[in-house]
Amino acid sequence: MSAHDYVIVGAGSAGCVLANRLSEDPTCRVLLIEAGGKDRSPNIKIPAAFPNQFHTKLDWDYSTDPEPFVDQRRMYVPRGKSLGGSSSMNAMLYVRGRPLDYELWQAQGAPGWGWDDVLPYFMKSENNARGASEFHGAGGPVEVAEQRSPRRICRDILEACVAAGIPRAVDYNGPEQDGVAPFQVFQKNGQRWSTADAYLRPAMRRGNLEVVTGALVQNLELDGDRVTGVRYARGKRTEIARADREVVLCAGALGSPQLLMLSGIGHPDELRAAGVQPRHELPGVGRNLQDHPFITALYEVSDTDTLYQADKPKHLLEWGLRRSGKLTSTVAEVNAFVRTRPGLPAADIQFHMGAAYFDDHGAEEFDGHAIVLGPVLVSPKARGQVWLNSGDPADKVRLVTNSLSEPEDMQSMVAGLRLAREIAASDPLRSKIVREIKPGPDATEDADLEADIRQRLMLLYHPCGTCRMSDSEELAVVDSQLRVHGLQGLRVADASIMPIVPGGNTNAPTIMIAEKAADLIREHAPVPAG
Ligand SMILES: Cc1cc2nc3c(=O)[nH]c(=O)nc-3n(C[C@H](O)[C@H](O)[C@H](O)COP(=O)(O)OP(=O)(O)OC[C@H]3O[C@@H](n4cnc5c(N)ncnc54)[C@H](O)[C@@H]3O)c2cc1C
Repeated sequence: MSAHDYVIVGAGSAGCVLANRLSEDPTCRVLLIEAGGKDRSPNIKIPAAFPNQFHTKLDWDYSTDPEPFVDQRRMYVPRGKSLGGSSSMNAMLYVRGRPLDYELWQAQGAPGWGWDDVLPYFMKSENNARGASEFHGAGGPVEVAEQRSPRRICRDILEACVAAGIPRAVDYNGPEQDGVAPFQVFQKNGQRWSTADAYLRPAMRRGNLEVVTGALVQNLELDGDRVTGVRYARGKRTEIARADREVVLCAGALGSPQLLMLSGIGHPDELRAAGVQPRHELPGVGRNLQDHPFITALYEVSDTDTLYQADKPKHLLEWGLRRSGKLTSTVAEVNAFVRTRPGLPAADIQFHMGAAYFDDHGAEEFDGHAIVLGPVLVSPKARGQVWLNSGDPADKVRLVTNSLSEPEDMQSMVAGLRLAREIAASDPLRSKIVREIKPGPDATEDADLEADIRQRLMLLYHPCGTCRMSDSEELAVVDSQLRVHGLQGLRVADASIMPIVPGGNTNAPTIMIAEKAADLIREHAPVPAG
């Protein structure tokens, strides 16, 4: 048994932030436990190589149950499993979501999480290449860069968006999100900048932070309603780490609810069905699962400056010597937030656009030069769930997203594909298009596009919401201080606490959550037990 003040479970986007911030106090002993290993793989460091991590030991490699509204297909859900977690696997796109998202969080029982409250945490974390301003920070640990070597055709995509009526966005991370702009990226000098780079490595020099890798946390240790530590397996050994102050779960939107349920915290009937003895009734655990569904419109192009054969030795050499060239690409290079019909309070579609063929998560190959114009549904109405498959901690959870359960969601996706066609038909992109590969010229009616969407829909790697935060909602799991309802000594601080998925990618919001969690924990640091 080891004893620490704080035990943090999961060294992902959130866990690395907390490990750093909580160990800033030299009198605090902090333990960070991670199931994955070190983050040395070139497929982590080289930006364009991130899909090479899929289905490897760097990936938890989840799939949904057959999804009822997308032809009963199982949908792939990759999750990072190394230091940095999903921030070591993700596509590095820096997007915060819109002020409205955080106002909705606050309105649903999370005081202190409105836009004015969270903006300082986005800014604190950031070292933005554009420098400090009313909306951006400089000098923070997270490097936010402009793309180092963008593809030529991506300029044409951007101009075509403008020609198709989408305004240029000055700063999609500022007060006005709508419009088209190049993505800003989590990179430093053309290399991925994960939260392990930003927060963990600098903190590992401190004597009061211990990091254990290759260790699967199996459950929480409880004494009545107080969480006293965690049990974890490392190789053949099982150990208990005692937390004199708190355990902080940062195991992500699938891992955190799994650990609560494995510890008997959840819906009693569902726990019993998985063979787990209920200890604390909290029926919201695992509910409210959300993710962003997306579809890709794919075009063959005459321009040769694409990511086709980007893994050739000359490109590897360029990246190796200068950290420049095609391999610095995040695949999606151009972002656009658009409203596809009047009367919407904010964009319903976010386009991810780039110079690559991207279908089936990059697994499907195309022998030639191509671009992708990918509409993503920003505010899905569907809600899904995560359950235990069994009481075995090594067993993957079951999940379903119910994507496209709501007709309005499908309506936006169809409109997104139609808008993709308008962009492709606009100058200066039009002259570079050889042909539409998918959905393909035969898909002309709404019914054709809907069928194509059901067949090819993917999830954009943003699962969240499964330990929902609220002081008042019935199915809340944590309160607005991120404390698990009804228990002492336990918080959750990661993407699982998001009440509603933000309108944008989820890494920056997760870092913001962890930055704020660190302040909440330090302000209310309980007296050590015993
Ligand atoms: C392929 C991909 C592309 C993405 N692209 C983008 C993007 O471009 N921009 C963006 O903003 N967002 C992106 N995201 C989403 C973003 O990275 C995530 O929302 C964010 O990383 C979630 O952070 P987290 O801390 O909640 O979870 P994670 O970062 O997943 O961290 C959870 C950690 O807990 C560990 N863990 C889990 N269970 C246990 C256990 N039982 N014991 C010990 N350790 C455990 C995991 O190994 C992991 O390290 C992408 C994600 C993926 C996977």
